[in-house]
Amino acid sequence: MPPDRLAVIGDPIAHSLSPVMQGAALLSASLPWAFEAHHVLPAELAAWVRRAREAAYRGFNVTIPHKVAIASHLDGIASSAERVGAVNTVVRSGEHLIGHNTDLVGFKQALLALAPDVWGVRAVIFGAGGAARAAVHALTDLEARMTIVNRHVVRAASLAEGLDRTTALGADDPRLATEIEDARLLVNATPLGMSHLADCSPLPAGTQLQPDTVVIDLVYGHPTPLLREAARRSCRCADGLEMLVQQGAESFRLWTGLEPDLEAMRAACHAHLKETQVC
Ligand code: NAP
Repeated sequence: MPPDRLAVIGDPIAHSLSPVMQGAALLSASLPWAFEAHHVLPAELAAWVRRAREAAYRGFNVTIPHKVAIASHLDGIASSAERVGAVNTVVRSGEHLIGHNTDLVGFKQALLALAPDVWGVRAVIFGAGGAARAAVHALTDLEARMTIVNRHVVRAASLAEGLDRTTALGADDPRLATEIEDARLLVNATPLGMSHLADCSPLPAGTQLQPDTVVIDLVYGHPTPLLREAARRSCRCADGLEMLVQQGAESFRLWTGLEPDLEAMRAACHAHLKETQVC
């Protein structure tokens, strides 16, 4: 009998740490399941999900750019995905494929590990895409007062709509520098600082970070310009690796019903990043 299968799908997908991270968790749990990475273009999504049904996948992770589009190919959406408006984990339940979101839990756990005192904090979130949506809803639970900043301000405004104590700003708004200086939590949920944008920062030139500001950059694998500036100003700061591990751990619980070995997952990510010279 072939092994049970899990996968991650996205476009691009080669950079994904999920296969090594989930592979380590499966090994540690003595589950002889396979975790595959599939490069799936938007036009191929429907056909891939049909094949996954036939091949009896236990579930799969969904990453850029399919987190919203996947919903129309599933049989149901769990409350976590409904709330965030995006699916990053699909779980087979009998004949049905159900969409969940584990990014919200992953972000919240990573943030609380870095800064357990952020309850009610004044926060600036850069970005209004899938990762920002998870962060904003997690911060709503933590009663944060938020400013969502995005280059297309209309997207930030749409995310802020209906949320208490939350406003939207364009990335070029002259009020941004003051908002940042007054905030005690900054979250980068844009690709600024990653790969082809490695020299870019969401901070406007000349912005002064206060040393008691907590900074979390969802980009991972190398110190971004935002994290370098935060470290220079002695801020508590972290990259997105712990969020990645925590969202992956929550996906693992949904697929297997087991508690994953977090240390094995972290170690596998660090070893892979070291090997590939990303950090
Ligand atoms: P997404 O849904 O495509 O959203 C991208 C966001 O970044 C949008 O707000 C977009 O603004 C903005 N953006 C894109 N290119 C930009 C540029 N050149 N300049 C300024 N803003 C730009 O992507 P996502 O899934 O939210 O991912 C965002 C980042 O978070 C990525 O770096 C991803 O690797 C990271 N992430 C990390 C984790 C983790 O576990 N650590 C999980 C998910 C994502 P517009 O709306 O104006 O286009």
